[in-house]
Amino acid sequence: MYDIIIIGAGPAGASAAIFTAKAGKKTLVFENNKGMTKRAWFENYYGITEIGGPELVDIGKQQALKFGAEIKEETVDQVARIEGGLSVTTDQGTYEAKHVLLATGALTDLAEPIGIRTKPGTEPRIKTVIEVDSDGRTSLEGVWAAGTAAGVSVHAVITAGDGAKAAINIISELNGERYVDHDILKA
Ligand SMILES: Cc1cc2nc3c(=O)[nH]c(=O)nc-3n(C[C@H](O)[C@H](O)[C@H](O)COP(=O)(O)OP(=O)(O)OC[C@H]3O[C@@H](n4cnc5c(N)ncnc54)[C@H](O)[C@@H]3O)c2cc1C
Repeated sequence: MYDIIIIGAGPAGASAAIFTAKAGKKTLVFENNKGMTKRAWFENYYGITEIGGPELVDIGKQQALKFGAEIKEETVDQVARIEGGLSVTTDQGTYEAKHVLLATGALTDLAEPIGIRTKPGTEPRIKTVIEVDSDGRTSLEGVWAAGTAAGVSVHAVITAGDGAKAAINIISELNGERYVDHDILKA
């Protein structure tokens, strides 16, 4: 069983995977190349002067892989509660995890059929978003949401930060105590 399955490898999902994998949590990421970030050009991402979406997405995935995350190009069809966790069914198989993070961007069609509450989006062109509490929890136990899917402002630096926030909350719950990830500059 994975500690966490993340659905989506855009800024929200990959950023979450960097944190969970770096924290030693068994992390599996699914993506199906339908994210919006690959179409963008960025000049407003903190710390990066300018970058194309495909390169940003690729670097994010490489960072997550570096810390041991697995990334699979599979489309998730269903998430369901099972004894002790959740099952995630894709077009190629079924996987199990203690936690699932929905970081599916503008695509939130997975949520309602599995009983997760949604609401109308407020951002331009975002029709429906997943209801979350301030930690990123959805209405289904063990399922979290982050980024555009969770209704935050549609900007990459914000969606990446929101994915990181949800990941830190999930890690903290798994560890039973508040988690921080601070590396120190070597002299
Ligand atoms: C044309 C354009 C220009 C933009 N310009 C800027 C800009 O200049 N500055 C800025 O800050 N923001 C810009 N944005 C917005 C920015 O790209 C997004 O806010 C942000 O990157 C979204 O990140 P995300 O991780 O929430 O979603 P996405 O990047 O959309 O990622 C969603 C992920 O979920 C996956 N997925 C969805 N459903 C499934 C499923 N069922 N199974 C498996 N995988 C699934 C997708 O494959 C993808 O990997 C722009 C957006 C567009 C479209």
